[in-house]
Amino acid sequence: MTEQRLRIALQKKGRLADDSYALLKKCGLRFAIRGGGLLARVKNMPIDLLLVRDDDIPSFVANDAADIGIVGENVLVEEQLTAKNGLDAEIDMRLGFSRCRLCLAAPDNGPIKSASDLIGTRIATTYPGVLGRFLKEQGIDANSVEMKGAVELAPSINIAESICDLVSSGATLEANGLTAFETILNSEAVLIKSSRKLSSKKQDILDKLSSRIDGVIKSAETKYIMMNAPTDKVDAITELLPGADAPTIMPLAGKENLVALQAVCTENIFWETLEELKALGARAILVLPIEKMMS
Ligand code: ATP
Ligand code: ZN
Repeated sequence: MTEQRLRIALQKKGRLADDSYALLKKCGLRFAIRGGGLLARVKNMPIDLLLVRDDDIPSFVANDAADIGIVGENVLVEEQLTAKNGLDAEIDMRLGFSRCRLCLAAPDNGPIKSASDLIGTRIATTYPGVLGRFLKEQGIDANSVEMKGAVELAPSINIAESICDLVSSGATLEANGLTAFETILNSEAVLIKSSRKLSSKKQDILDKLSSRIDGVIKSAETKYIMMNAPTDKVDAITELLPGADAPTIMPLAGKENLVALQAVCTENIFWETLEELKALGARAILVLPIEKMMS
């Protein structure tokens, strides 16, 4: 019997690729991406990486060319809405990177300022599915002009009055004299799978990987905080710690009124919190990153 290896579809090159590789590396997978290869073998786990264009990832997962995939939610939703015979692929886990928005945008000085101004106009997009759903939900009668790329140029060459495109920083829109006036989809990278049942061997590999991904995502936000605190302020200090369970309290040699306090905070610790802790009498406050977590 051939060895069973979990196959993960990933974007080979592009805005999603580097962070996808980085996530898998943080999960302990060892692999090398070389030039032209379609398949990369993970050396220390029974996993293969299928390296493709992002647009193909949902259908590859749906059609069993890969067991799971990492793709932008925007691409998944678009494929779900436009696949002729439906698409057997759904979100298994949100990954928190490659965040962007699918927005409607129009020339800064033009007449289109809101969605209701779109009636009877042309909107250029590479996302006819998501745009069509939005227009239908809003009851707006407009024409979508499908393009394969360079959508931001459409108004200047007069093939559309507005565009529907992905925005992250907004710099591309600004450079083309466009302003976003409506977000129609918020997106981030997602792990996708189909409804097919995996073999128990592959499911075991996926469970292990999912638990590691979960740990990587959680540890990115989680911090370890340490400080010396006045004994009578321990309760007030504990209340200030974001997303922390009961802290560890230890006596300090030779100091009656002070204790060492340590806790795991599962949410961001802002400077403001540290200032409030200091105001309560905490001293020698340290915030440390957590490298790995398993709960
Ligand atoms: P491919 O050659 O794989 O088809 P592509 O050109 O379609 O690549 P990229 O531009 O690499 O795709 O974007 C991949 C994904 O990265 C997008 O679908 C989206 O989920 C995410 N992304 C994050 N920020 C942005 C952005 N500012 N513009 C476009 N995509 C973004
Ligand atoms: Zn693409």
